[in-house]
Amino acid sequence: MTEQQLNATVHRLTRDHRTSHTDCDTGKTSYPTEMALFTQLRQEITSSSRPSTGASSGPRSPVALGAVVLWDEIRETLATMHIAITGKDEPATSPESKLQKWAAWTQADTSGNETQKCLHRATAWAAAIDQLINPVRRIDISGSCPAEGCGVSHAWTWDEDEYVRNTALTASGSEARCGACGATWVGAELHTLALELWKVAA
Ligand SMILES: [Zn+2]
Repeated sequence: MTEQQLNATVHRLTRDHRTSHTDCDTGKTSYPTEMALFTQLRQEITSSSRPSTGASSGPRSPVALGAVVLWDEIRETLATMHIAITGKDEPATSPESKLQKWAAWTQADTSGNETQKCLHRATAWAAAIDQLINPVRRIDISGSCPAEGCGVSHAWTWDEDEYVRNTALTASGSEARCGACGATWVGAELHTLALELWKVAA
């Protein structure tokens, strides 16, 4: 389960991927291809640092600043992990391939702890990039995540340009998600989630 989640998250971060989009008006679902989240984050940085006509050094938008800080953090973490795993620095190796190698390496740990660690990091990055590029208001849900092997009530999430400790479970529109393990509940599943939370609280 965790391994599948990790593969899916690493895929979203490092490769172009299919997403599903349901049109609110027609109810029709389409499957557009979305760029890798790392690519989107890099584009966010380059598109807003391009000199605009006239002014040579205009102030950067808050989104671009957040993107720079986040991208630095991702690259540093991946560089550190890469050295820890391979014993080599290899600055020319892309962050994409460093993350893929890290994820593949965790499979050697049968306890699953390393997979969990990598998953938590990758999930936090994916959520942070999503939030940076398509900011949506999320509502905090108190309680522990009922997903198997998670049970976390708080998680570090990226907000503005810093990590903040929030409730692990948040909701926006008709979707809820755990910021720690990446589990999501959509539509009717929200009802199941509410029941799980209510059971524990009762
Ligand atoms: Zn969770």
